[in-house]
Amino acid sequence: MRQRTFLSPTLRDIPTDADVVSHQLMLRAGLIRQSTSGVYSFLPLGFKVLQKVERIVREEMDRAGAQEMIMPSIQPAELWQQSGRWADYGPELMRFKDRHQREFALGPTHEEVITAIVKDDVRSYKELPMTLYQIQTKFRDERRPRFGVLRGREFLMKDAYSFDVDYDGLDKSYSKMYEAYKKIFARCDLNFRAVVADSGAMGGKDTHEFMVLSSVGEDTIAYSDGSDYAANTEIAEVNVSYPQSNENGKPLEKVDTPDQKTIEQVGKYLNADATQCIKAMTFNVDDEAVMVLVRGDHEVNDIKIKHALDARNVTFATEEESSEWMKADFGFLGPVGAPDHLKIVADPAVMVMKNIICGANEANKHYINANVYRDFKVDQIADVRMIQEGDPSPDGKGTIRFKEGIEVGHVFKLGTKYSEALGATVLDDQGKARPIVMGSYGIGVSRTVAAIIEEHHDENGIIWPLSVAPFHAHLVPVNVKQDDQRELSEALYSELQQAGLEVLFDDRQERPGVKFKDSDLLGLPIRITVGKKAGEGIVELKYRKSGETVEVHRKDLLSTIT
Ligand code: ATP
Ligand code: MG
Ligand code: MG
Ligand code: MG
Repeated sequence: MRQRTFLSPTLRDIPTDADVVSHQLMLRAGLIRQSTSGVYSFLPLGFKVLQKVERIVREEMDRAGAQEMIMPSIQPAELWQQSGRWADYGPELMRFKDRHQREFALGPTHEEVITAIVKDDVRSYKELPMTLYQIQTKFRDERRPRFGVLRGREFLMKDAYSFDVDYDGLDKSYSKMYEAYKKIFARCDLNFRAVVADSGAMGGKDTHEFMVLSSVGEDTIAYSDGSDYAANTEIAEVNVSYPQSNENGKPLEKVDTPDQKTIEQVGKYLNADATQCIKAMTFNVDDEAVMVLVRGDHEVNDIKIKHALDARNVTFATEEESSEWMKADFGFLGPVGAPDHLKIVADPAVMVMKNIICGANEANKHYINANVYRDFKVDQIADVRMIQEGDPSPDGKGTIRFKEGIEVGHVFKLGTKYSEALGATVLDDQGKARPIVMGSYGIGVSRTVAAIIEEHHDENGIIWPLSVAPFHAHLVPVNVKQDDQRELSEALYSELQQAGLEVLFDDRQERPGVKFKDSDLLGLPIRITVGKKAGEGIVELKYRKSGETVEVHRKDLLSTIT
């Protein structure tokens, strides 16, 4: 590629609206341009990297036996109503109406669509197991789009879905994807960890997130320095310090509740009339909330509850945030928001709900999707605490350390949530219809590009790992007006390409300083500088990563760099 006519606009200054290095460098090196908040174009250079990552993902998916397909972005509301997510998904789902007032969503994920396809076209256990995937643009109206393509509202995702006749099958499909993910992120040269994650909203069982260790990550990972234990701190508290028994030594009960329940139904689990007896506090941590429900007639010191919440590292919702809940008609939940509203009346029966997702269904009933634990004492809640750095670990080996992580991938055992909701069954070997057991597996392809830059850069620019570099080499004549430099460069350009190398040829008439600065910024693995010794057939190689330089004769060039 000749750089003079290649659209790769570089910026000298750090863009003021970009807070993290990958975002700054993607703008400065001309990889992306913003269209509107959270929405970006990939310019040719950025697109090449995106395609390299895609290729790695595709190769490993294919190797694991997954089949590529492509599904539409436009999804009918009815499908989402069948699964319950039209209500559950909340404002992140981009919704619109067509000219006939029919409702649609722009796909943030494709469980419903793929399940509907498989339901119609797969009949027998003999056709399973099957894993299908696509690499496609996704839409999510993120509350806080930020950090460039790390959190976009339109972004590229690889999403895969596995279909098995039973849970043993699912375990196998899941571990195939898990292993493929390890290969993918290793090939992208990322320092990552697979961490145990929270199965909250998706309603499944096992789930792991693939986290790239990075200070700009929005998740925090608790990991052991003495074993493989690693968990998202969102859930690490459960493993470590949730009380395991109540006051009388009786094991705590995880209440078996339907995925979706109204607040009145929740009240029944407490043997209380929700509207009369439940006082609740809610607080928001991004999209999540924890609610403590308390019943009874004893006065309880507010401080204790506040303490409990503080220990769980949460903040009270601001008036503004809590008014969102109010608007959604959650007023009956009682005091919400500011601490001075907290006047809790309670007896020993306390219930904790975690990972609450709220929504409304067609009948305008408000639903809650949460894990419910019963039989806590108020005092016990006060003891509940987040896992902390320096804790011994949960598996008895090593000490807990914290690190921020960027979630680049997520594998998930869905079970039968979607197949049951949409009626996707197969006949088993006894001729009996069974709901298909599913898994889903996502990779943020565009986010991965940014994560690679977060890990591979220095003060001068990007340092591409060879596997995803937009070009292998940067051919830079110092002065294209010099005949010997121009001629040697042209000759090397065709020679290297013939040998299968991808070369960016800086044929611009720019000052050497500008060219070298741009070259460092773009970060191709090898720079071949054609300068004063061109007449002797000698060029300089510079390795972007180590900074090491060597002079080589043109006849040794290929064997040196390949
Ligand atoms: P996050 O916790 O960052 O919001 P998520 O858990 O909502 O991500 P998943 O539903 O697990 O995301 O989607 C699969 C993958 O898609 C994620 O692991 C991530 O790599 C990517 N992804 C999700 N949201 C975005 C986004 N807004 N911009 C870019 N990539 C994203
Ligand atoms: Mg999200
Ligand atoms: Mg997540
Ligand atoms: Mg996720």
